[in-house]
Parts: sequence; C-alpha cells; structure tokens
Amino acid sequence: MEMELSSEMLGTRLFSEATMRERLPKAVFKELKKTIDYGAPLDTAIADSVAIAMREWAKELGATHYTHWFHPLTNLTAEKHDSFIDPVGDGTFITEFTGKELIKSEPDGSSFPSGGIRSTCAARGYTVWDSTSPAFVKEIPGGCKVLCIPTIFISYTGESLDFKTPLLRSSDAVSKQALRILKLFGKTPTKVVTSVGPEQEYFLVNKEQYLKRLDLKLCGRTLFGAPAPKGQELDDQYFGVIKDNISVFMKQLNRDLWEYGIPAKTQHNEVAPAQHEIAPIYGTTNVGSDQNALLMETLKKVADRTGFACLLHEKPFAGVNGSGKHNNWSVTTTDGENLIDPGKEPENNLQFQLFLAAILAAVDNNAALLRLSASSAGNDHRLGANEAPPAIISAYLGDQLGQMVDELIEKGEATSITKGKRYNSGCAVVPEFTMDATDRNRTSPFAFTGNKFEFRMVGSTQAIGFPMMVLNTIVADELGKMADVLEKADDTEAAIKKMIVDTLRAHKRIIFNGNGYSDEWVVEAEKRGLPNLKCMVDAIPSLVTDEVIDMFERLEIMSRREVLARAEVLYENYAKQINIEALTMIEMSRKQIVPAVMKYEAALAAGAKDLKELGVKANAQVALINAIDERVEALKLATDELEELVKKAAEKEDDIPAYAKYYHDVVFAYFDTVRKPADELEKMVDEEAWPFPTYEKLLFEQ
Ligand code: ADP
Ligand code: MG
Repeated sequence: MEMELSSEMLGTRLFSEATMRERLPKAVFKELKKTIDYGAPLDTAIADSVAIAMREWAKELGATHYTHWFHPLTNLTAEKHDSFIDPVGDGTFITEFTGKELIKSEPDGSSFPSGGIRSTCAARGYTVWDSTSPAFVKEIPGGCKVLCIPTIFISYTGESLDFKTPLLRSSDAVSKQALRILKLFGKTPTKVVTSVGPEQEYFLVNKEQYLKRLDLKLCGRTLFGAPAPKGQELDDQYFGVIKDNISVFMKQLNRDLWEYGIPAKTQHNEVAPAQHEIAPIYGTTNVGSDQNALLMETLKKVADRTGFACLLHEKPFAGVNGSGKHNNWSVTTTDGENLIDPGKEPENNLQFQLFLAAILAAVDNNAALLRLSASSAGNDHRLGANEAPPAIISAYLGDQLGQMVDELIEKGEATSITKGKRYNSGCAVVPEFTMDATDRNRTSPFAFTGNKFEFRMVGSTQAIGFPMMVLNTIVADELGKMADVLEKADDTEAAIKKMIVDTLRAHKRIIFNGNGYSDEWVVEAEKRGLPNLKCMVDAIPSLVTDEVIDMFERLEIMSRREVLARAEVLYENYAKQINIEALTMIEMSRKQIVPAVMKYEAALAAGAKDLKELGVKANAQVALINAIDERVEALKLATDELEELVKKAAEKEDDIPAYAKYYHDVVFAYFDTVRKPADELEKMVDEEAWPFPTYEKLLFEQ
C-alpha cells in the first residue's frame, strides 16, 4: 500500500485535543481540558462521556480492541487487548466500553518486575487512565487495530510499578516549587510544565543477516566480530546522503509516527556506518516519554516491514560509535514563558539566573543519581568506557553564560557579557548573519543549548520517563529549598541576588566547558571531587542513600519502598542481561564457531595430507592449521571457563547487589577473553567457512 506523505496525516490515529473538541459535549471538553492544561483533578463523572466519544472514534478507524497501555519497569510498554464486545446474557453481544473501562483496569500483571513489591501470589494491580497523554489507535498492517489508552500502573498495595506514575508526580513537584519562585517575581501562571525532545539514535541492518546472528537476536548487540577494514574514520556517513532503501524506511516511519501524532521532524545519518537518528518536536515530559516509547516500537516494526532490523542497543558493534538519546529538557509556564531562556540580557535577568543556579545546584548535589538515571548494562559500553559522554557529570554553559557566571561568582554581579557577532563570509553573494554567542559542546553530558539543557547521557534503549523523573525531582528539590529561604526574606530582591551568587559559588565545580572526552578532565574532575562511577552496578547505590530517599518522599514522588524496589529491579536487570549475554556467547562459541572452524581445519589438514603425498611440503597449510588450532583451543578453554563463572553466580543470588557486582566484575570482565581468539579466527579462516555474517556485511550491506 503505497501512500504519499502529507502533513494532513498528523494525528489521524490520535484522539487529539482537536478531535476531542469536535466530538465531546462542550462542558465535558472544558472539564477535561482543565486537567490536561492545568493539572486539575479529573472529574470522573465525565469519563462515561469521554469513553463513548473515544469508542466511536476508534471504531470509525476500524478498532476492534482496546487496551490500557503502560510502562512497567522494563523499558518497554505493555498491553493486553480486550475486544469491544460484551455478552448481554441471551447469547448475543453488544459493544461495550464505558467510563469504567476507560478509567481503570485490573490486569493480573504479576510477572512484571516489581523489585519485591509484589509476589506472584499477590498479583492484583491496577492501570488507571492518564488523560494528559492522548489515546491512539495502533494499526498493524493486516492485523488488529487497537485503541491504546495511556495509563499508570500500580500495585494492590498502592505502590507504583511503572515509570509514568513518578514522572507525573515529578512534573507536579517542579510546577509547585517553580510557582513559589515565580511568585517572588510577581508572576502567577497557573502551572509550570517540563518538556522533553528526545533525539533517538539507532542502527538498521539487513533483516536476513540479523536473523543469522544469535547475539543480535537475543542480546541486541554483537558479542563477537572482528572489525571491518573500514569503520567510521572517513566521516562519510555522518549527515551523508541517505541511501534509497533507507529513505523508503524513513518515509514509512514518518507516516506511522505522524499518524500517531508524533511530530517527527529531523532525520539524518549518524556517525557510525548503518547508524541513523530521528528527532520529533518536543512535548511535555509525560507525553514526550510516551511518544518516545511508541517511537522505539515503531522503529522496530517499520524496520521489520521494510527488510531491516532496527538495533536500539547502546553498543551494537565494538569499534564504532554507539547510540544514545539526547534528552532536550526545558521548563515553561502555562503563559508560554520558558524559564531557562536567558533572553537578550541574561546579565540583568535575575529570574533566569536563579533558575540556572537551581539547576546547577541540583546537578551538582545529585551528580551520581543523575548518572544512575541514565544507566543500563548497554549504556555501560558508552559512559566512561569506549566512548563519550564520560561517566562524570558536569554542566556546559558556553562562553556567554560562562562569563556571566564567572562575573557573578567573582564580583557578585554581572555587568556586560559577550553578544553574538555579525559574520561576513567574504562571499559577496552570501548574506551576513549574527552568530550565536555560544558554541556547542558535544562532549558534555549536560549541555546548555540556548534555551534548554541537553542531557546527553541517556541510553538509546532507555525509557526516558526515569531520567526525566530524576531531573525533574532534583530541580524541584533545589527550587523548593530556595523558596523556603526566599519567602522569609524581608528584602526579596537582595535575598535573590545573594542566593544566586552563593549558589553559583557553592556549585561552580560542576561547570566544565572543556573537552569532556579528554584524560585531563578525568584528573581534574577527581580534584574537584566529582563522582566518576564507571559502571551501572556502582551507580545504583546512589539511588538509595538516605538523602535521596528523603528527597523523593518529601516531594511525594516515590516512597522508600518504591525507591528500593527500583534499585532492586536495576540490579536484577543487570545480572539477567549479562547472564543472557554469557549464555549466548557460550552457545555461539560451542555450536557455531568451534564446529565451523574445526571443519575448516579438517579440510585444510586433508589438503595438506594430499599435498604431502604428492611430495609437496605443505608448510603454509601446516602453519595455518597450527595457528588456527591454537586459537580454537584457547576459545574452547575460555568458553568452558565462562560457563564455570556463570554457574558460580548462583552462590550469590541471595544478595542482589553482590550478585550484580559479580556479573560485572567477574562474568562481564571475562567476555574479552572469550571474544579475542574468536575474532582472530574470523580473520584467518575462509569467509565461506565463517558461521554468521561479519561486521563488514552487517555494517555495509544495509
Ligand atoms: P539542537 O539543534 O539544539 O540540537 P534541535 O532543534 O535539533 O536542537 O532540537 C533537538 C530536540 O530538542 C528536538 O526534539 C526539539 O524539538 C527539542 N527542543 C527544542 N526546543 C526545546 C525546548 N525549549 N525544550 C525542550 N526541547 C526542545
Ligand atoms: Mg541536539
């Protein structure tokens, strides 16, 4: 079904505000809009009316089923479809979907990770409608059409078992605390919202080749693979011409995303061969997070439909760049004022300075927690390992704001600061323009980019609800602490000025404008006392310190139990992930590489024998056989050892942090020993003899 792209497709499968306005009774729409725009509590009396309109709309689009759509603690979304039909009692059926079904459902989702909050025998959980994220109809070509209703997911005991619940609470916390600050400036908007625009990186590989790689299928990344003769060194992929078949993929992707109301805007080739990026226009952290989940799912589905496999893993291939997800984040009032926009004269903009100071303090006070929020087994390959951004949290402000902050710290006030210069290229035909006052810094994990911060650490597979919740929380916390002091001051303006200077002085160590990838920065950061947590397992404790738990509880974002549960899920998830990788390695080594190489070895040996019978020395054959044999033996031994190491993990199972640590320090650390002889063998044997597609094929035969 070929269909041209058009902007009219935007939101055709979304129960958007415009659709609601058109289809809901006026009074109902007004009520609902108060909730969506201003966070007013939802009047459940309107649910029936919304349900009827939603059902009719979905059915017109061909939907036969509906589902509560939620974000369990897995980085994926969950759905359980129910058809719209209900028995009447006389053997006939009617279509039923009322306010009751819209608002609440009780799935027995006992198998989702709960970090000990829920045992399988106490399975009851609830999904409850989040009216601030619009419902949509999912359409699988040739498959069911399903009305998806975004919901939160909580246990029978009332604890959240998802990413959305704390995220919604954290947005409310930012709003509440930011409004207190704004009041000091004489402003009283109804609400403050946090926004996110995630830039998603991904790889596309040929589907048939993907299916031949057990590691890609089961782990999302290659566990073996010698480097191809060519990598990314020529910089010929970055922003390069998009190949025809990729363009076909992108067109279908855009169509699906636009129909879902996801405003996909920017697409381009990324640094590594076979790597690409897509960025939609930003939305609230809640809607942005839902949209990103749907975007990741759509990337995979459209890839599958167009002959590709989409790899979202942070490091699918050794030796070339991995994938991240830059989260552009800002805070705006319902009056449309962006609170982190410096304006024309940041040096005189006390309100901006105060928000900036609060954000820097938040990042400095919670550097380890923020790092943890972007952690996963996959992201460990990026952060602090083979590539940047480093695991050290710092904030980049650029020259202009950097200069302003320096002046504030040194002199207690900022007088004049650099403005963007006019630029003349010297080409008469090219127009002059004003340059930005500030450069960009690609090496900073938390970079100011004009009127937003870009949190660049987040991993490409991650549900962004968690990092965005953490960012919202720590900023709400600082704003609240500031408001506590400032509200009591006699001279508000003087107190604000003092607060800005004191805060910047106390937290200037977090500002770093230099090269975050350099070794010097690691040394310098250590001098400054900034945490450098190299792996996820070492970062998890930062989630469960007394101060952090107290912060989450004080701001009513998560209870102690909810926080502890998340730490447990993270540990568990890490251990499981590495366990799967280890088992996959063993399987590929024993059942694919070793037999294939031995077969090749045997053929060489037979050849050598024949040659000798003819009186030829066969020296080359014998040398090659010996070299191969040495490595096959090393691979077999290493594989056996890895199996032993995995078996021993069971001894630690009762102590979940130690268990995860063992998987990191012992099991994961051993992977290279297994991989090395295998990758060497790949470069020695006949291409035809190698049991699965090589890097060269995966990266260059898209
Ligand atoms: P940049 O060139 O600075 O990286 P882009 O225009 O490419 O910015 O945008 C990157 C992402 O940031 C997009 O998803 C975009 O919608 C989002 N974005 C732009 N402005 C804001 C903002 N004020 N708050 C949050 N996200 C934003
Ligand atoms: Mg960007």
